[in-house]
Amino acid sequence: MFEPRHMDGPPLMTDYKDTVFLPSTSFPMRGNLPQMEPRILEHWQRLNLYQELRKTSKGRPTFILHAGPPYANGHLHIGHAFTGIFKDVVVRYKQMQGFDAPYVPGWDSHGLPIEWKIEEAYRKKGKRKEEIDVLEFRQECRLFAQKWMDVQREESKRLGMMADWEHPYNTMDFASEATTSAELLKLLMSGELYQGVRPVMWSVVEKTALADTEVEYHDHTSTSLFVRFPVSKSADTDLEGASVLIWTTTPWTLPGNRAVAYGAEITYALVEVAAVLKDSLAVVGERFIIAKDLIESVASQVGIGQTHVLKTFVGRALDQAFCRHCLWESGYEFDVPLLPGEHVTTDAGTGLVHTAPGHGPEDFVLGKRHGLEIPQTVGEDGVYLDAVPTFAGQHIFKIAPVIVEALSRHGRLLHVSSLTHSYPHSWRSKAPLIYRTTPQWFLSMDKGRLRDKALSAIEDVKWYPAQSRNRIRSMVDGRPDWCLSRQRAWGVPLPLFLHKQTGQPLKDDAVNARIVAAIATEGCDAWFKSDPSRFLGDAYAADDYTQIKDVLDVWFDSAATQAFVLEAREELSWPADLYLEGSDQHRGWFQTSLLLGCASRGGAPFRSVITHGFALDEKGQKMSKSLGNGVDPQSVISKSGAEILRLWVMNCDYSDDYRVGPEILKSQEDLYRRFRNTLRYLLGALHGFDPTTERLSYEGLPDLEKYILHRLTELHTRMMEATTDHTYQQWFAALHTFCAVDLSAFYFDIRKDVLYCDAPTSLQRRAARTVMSHLLEYLLRWLAPVLCFTTEEAWLSMGRTGSVHLETFETPPALWQNADLAAAFETVRTQRRLLTGALEQARASGLVGSSLQARLVIYDPEGLLDPNQPWHTLAIVSNLEIKQDAVPTDAYTLSDVPSIGVVVEKAKGEKCARCWQVLEEVGRDAHHPTLCMRCTDAVTQGVRP
Ligand SMILES: [Zn+2]
Repeated sequence: MFEPRHMDGPPLMTDYKDTVFLPSTSFPMRGNLPQMEPRILEHWQRLNLYQELRKTSKGRPTFILHAGPPYANGHLHIGHAFTGIFKDVVVRYKQMQGFDAPYVPGWDSHGLPIEWKIEEAYRKKGKRKEEIDVLEFRQECRLFAQKWMDVQREESKRLGMMADWEHPYNTMDFASEATTSAELLKLLMSGELYQGVRPVMWSVVEKTALADTEVEYHDHTSTSLFVRFPVSKSADTDLEGASVLIWTTTPWTLPGNRAVAYGAEITYALVEVAAVLKDSLAVVGERFIIAKDLIESVASQVGIGQTHVLKTFVGRALDQAFCRHCLWESGYEFDVPLLPGEHVTTDAGTGLVHTAPGHGPEDFVLGKRHGLEIPQTVGEDGVYLDAVPTFAGQHIFKIAPVIVEALSRHGRLLHVSSLTHSYPHSWRSKAPLIYRTTPQWFLSMDKGRLRDKALSAIEDVKWYPAQSRNRIRSMVDGRPDWCLSRQRAWGVPLPLFLHKQTGQPLKDDAVNARIVAAIATEGCDAWFKSDPSRFLGDAYAADDYTQIKDVLDVWFDSAATQAFVLEAREELSWPADLYLEGSDQHRGWFQTSLLLGCASRGGAPFRSVITHGFALDEKGQKMSKSLGNGVDPQSVISKSGAEILRLWVMNCDYSDDYRVGPEILKSQEDLYRRFRNTLRYLLGALHGFDPTTERLSYEGLPDLEKYILHRLTELHTRMMEATTDHTYQQWFAALHTFCAVDLSAFYFDIRKDVLYCDAPTSLQRRAARTVMSHLLEYLLRWLAPVLCFTTEEAWLSMGRTGSVHLETFETPPALWQNADLAAAFETVRTQRRLLTGALEQARASGLVGSSLQARLVIYDPEGLLDPNQPWHTLAIVSNLEIKQDAVPTDAYTLSDVPSIGVVVEKAKGEKCARCWQVLEEVGRDAHHPTLCMRCTDAVTQGVRP
């Protein structure tokens, strides 16, 4: 709807061609963004724009968005591009709003994904990690991270992100590593850090504990068993000789079995088997104990045809009962107790739960409560330890058939099948995970009331969208203590010494200071390569202590950015105004930053948090390599330009998952052309405009111009609201509507005639150019945070120096607000639709070619039209008459505009060769017999402005 009508003037007789003021600008119609954008980037580089912004905005109030560190292990994907552009847009809006809004980018470089890559590379060369010197290994990891940081930095710059790319932060910088260690040591000194033995999610492939955030759920096929545990002792003698029946999908945990749990309030039944189906392992006459509600379900699963319930009783009756271990004959010659457990339900299984205290959190709690042994059965690599009877040396992932055979041989197996269910896997190796009980270091959620502090801090933070508050609240409310230790090499160490006799960690400020100082100058390698005496000094004997070689969960590193970035950098401060990341960070960075902030600083490191959804394809499916539906930001940029991605971000509803694909990107290109043409039209229309001599004061403007200025103030208010309540996308949609509907299809269309054909001195023409000059200045600034390249291109095409990005938003004068006029114009615009509708119909029927060939007769018996409005100008016709007669039956009408009708006629007279209006006055001037009087005047006055 933009270009053809505005850019093409009426076809002209050669004589008058040069007298029409067609738009003229060096700003090209086509953006050619893949070529233009790099030139603008060079311009910013030459200007040193980021530093220039800091200089010019020094002393202003600050707005600090603390950008979370992406992981440095690959190219930026579409999710990175979305988050990066979103942050950039927010910071740019705040900057232009008058804040000093620095943007310090950073990277997360420690941790398993990088370590895993390096291990893979060594494995390809036939080397095991254990053969590599830890310092050499860490150096390989460092180089790998550095390489990807450099790649991602260039890719981020290319997105148009304005940031301190020369001075980013990195979790592996020595200063960062020192501060991260110091943060951990603070928790040691406060007593909130403790060593504990607890089952944690463990990957036997990566040989480390994993955090919840490193766990993914995928379908996994497990061996599903029903197993007999013969009752050996019971207060109720009826139960002797019967079997307690359990169900498990982790046969490898059976060697770790130390109890069977029951529900104290659940009703159980002693059942006798009366009939069995073919191939069933059940025996007629044998007796089982299972939950009464589950008799039918179990019977049908294990092939029991008929049962007799001999008696029922509540679980409590099982107190003091014991069973034989199900693997008694395989070297497990001991009885295990029946214990009451709150976690037992009758949702599935038998209502009696196999309990291995080393391999499950609930099992562990039950075992602790009843003083059971917590047996260590599985090594870090998933192989049974030497002390495990029968199965020692075998891998747990391959043991199911061996255990099934052992159970079967001794009559303990009642049924075996396979079950596909959702099961935790490592996000990196994709291997299934197990619970393993090892000594680990934890940050206590409750010792120092951390949970309460965090829950209270959540209430003080503003969350966008609002439901995000509930999400993080419930996560913090229910989370276990934070397992901080990892049995890996590439990370910040937990720089602790354990006393060999007491098992207590050494707490000494002087030792801590020596550790932090060494890391600050030599990096974390100092911890791994130095003799302990370097840190212990003279006060302690190195022989009395064990040095901990675990490294920290990388989420602790990124949580500590509040210390080594927000607090450490002069241009930033704690807490930040805003954290903005994907909604997965509720359990990641938002939460770990909140916990560390509350533990060491008494509050959240952010005043507000924006979370956004994730990328889906155009059909709403997740992106995956196998589906081939991914969108690569680098190819979009090289084909269409970064501005297209930036526009796309502004057209996504961030509160939900957002979509992207070829069709969506194509529509952004159309949208881009509309914005570009709006700017181009204004640049062209203002050719040669001199504000000092040509601009008119507000009082001298026609109502139409005043109305446009009123709309402009409305848009300004909308923008200020959007940057406060983070509704950028809605604001940008309003801005688009303004350009397309208010300007292109209405204002520009109406004022085309005056702009092209009026004499330079015409007050109407000057009024239009006055308003268009305001429009251009405001639009350039409003669009600049999003279309950062194009607005700069336009700025430079105006012959201006510097950068549009050094500007701030202007506040429109209060005088421009005119609500009464705006209300009147809403009516005018509705009535105008009747006139343009009638003209459309007349064109379609062939009565007239262009609207300028038409004369409108408007029938307005009720006098609803404002007679003071220049209706023929608004309708863009050569002649117009308003009659108070009744509406004829053949008149054009619209239900939106009742009581008025329009009849279109051919305008009388000749067509002016210059302006195309059809007027009876054409031919009156002897010197210019093909022109109307207005054009005669314009031509006589002569030259272009
Ligand atoms: Zn004319």
